[in-house]
Amino acid sequence: MVIKSFKHQIPQISYLVKKKLWAQVLVGLFLGLLLGLVLGPEAGIVDKDTSGIITTWLSIPAHLFLKIIQMIIVPLIFASIIRGLLSAGSVEQLRTMGISVAAFFVITTVIALGIGVFVATTIVPGNFVDSEAMLSSLEIDETEQLVENIEFNFLDIPQHIIGIIPSNPLTSFMSGEMLSIIIFALFVAIAMISLPKKKSESITDLLESIQEITMKVVSWAMRLAPLAAFGLMADIVSKVGLDALVGLGAYMGTVVIGLFIMMLAYIVIIKVFARRPIISTLKMMKDPLLLAFSTSSSAAVMPVSLKTAEEKMKVKPAVSQFVIPLGATINMNGTALYQIVAVFFLAQLFSIELGATTIILIAVTALMASIGAPSAPGAGIVILSSILLAAGVPVIGIVLLLGVDRILDMTRTMVNVSGDLTACLVFNKRIKAEHIPKS
Ligand code: ASP
Repeated sequence: MVIKSFKHQIPQISYLVKKKLWAQVLVGLFLGLLLGLVLGPEAGIVDKDTSGIITTWLSIPAHLFLKIIQMIIVPLIFASIIRGLLSAGSVEQLRTMGISVAAFFVITTVIALGIGVFVATTIVPGNFVDSEAMLSSLEIDETEQLVENIEFNFLDIPQHIIGIIPSNPLTSFMSGEMLSIIIFALFVAIAMISLPKKKSESITDLLESIQEITMKVVSWAMRLAPLAAFGLMADIVSKVGLDALVGLGAYMGTVVIGLFIMMLAYIVIIKVFARRPIISTLKMMKDPLLLAFSTSSSAAVMPVSLKTAEEKMKVKPAVSQFVIPLGATINMNGTALYQIVAVFFLAQLFSIELGATTIILIAVTALMASIGAPSAPGAGIVILSSILLAAGVPVIGIVLLLGVDRILDMTRTMVNVSGDLTACLVFNKRIKAEHIPKS
């Protein structure tokens, strides 16, 4: 019986492996694991030096992946943020609904960040990993990294606040100071939306092209993901053995528990602020959530979210048509939560103490970064590099998380989409029809 049903699945499995990147990543991960066991000292087949040479070559795709992402991140974030805000349509829209909707998005993101910090510091997933061996697999000198870590002093905060506004945006672009770039993007977006369409049209088109071009490059980098996962897994397992997996399992478990708590928070919001019955509302959300899980892209789910909101949840179109597209672009609580856990996990791995002010800085950057992350598969891990930079945690750590990212991407995208639908329900309840600007 089992064999029969398995046989039934074979064509489907081979389709997945041929067509779906995440299936390829899982295969890469598994093959890397096997090779890692063969190359490891426990098997005793290959001597340590030879194994080291092989794994150094095998980890080239992982490093290339990272380099491509770093190369593209600044224009990507800049274009995404401006386009997200422009989706409000007009200054009037931005003012009437925009401010309260944005406040809702920010408050729920802060809740998500709080949950992220809570789960990461109570479970401490970094403790489940043999960090020394992992670090050696990344060829990182721990003490060197520690010295590079910037610890913020409370007295420095006013300076940091002033410093957020870039005196020369080009310098920020060149040095990759993400927060300053995001602030500059906010100014540009609000100015653009305040001008007559004709005056900013050419820049809007240019930004659209920039975003498409950068996403294309990211999609190329993503093709390296199976090889990156393969090489990295082989490298890690050959050095640390199966323990590496246990560590990553703890990290994944922490993210999933955090996301689950966030879903509970949405349920409370739906009940208290939107006054909707829980079970039937969740049932209505089924289609967009399943689609979010399978595509890992809030943008791809957007049309279905709109349909669900209007047809099943009976949300006023003027509310759904503003909240859903804006939410899909800038409201990513699942992503923010995941990023916080990832930063804490890597900091724990690299034995980097995160002080209170650094945590605040990380949270602010994660908030901004989740706003800036494009609603596409893998966007969260791409943007993660900017938060790691702000936290003084070695960016190379990303390659460790890469192998298991797809599964987390699927789950966090579900939370992102739930957040948009929850916002829709809340604003449908709160905003009277006559206050809704015509779209
Ligand atoms: N895939 C997510 C989304 O589209 C973004 C992310 O990678 O976190 O919502």
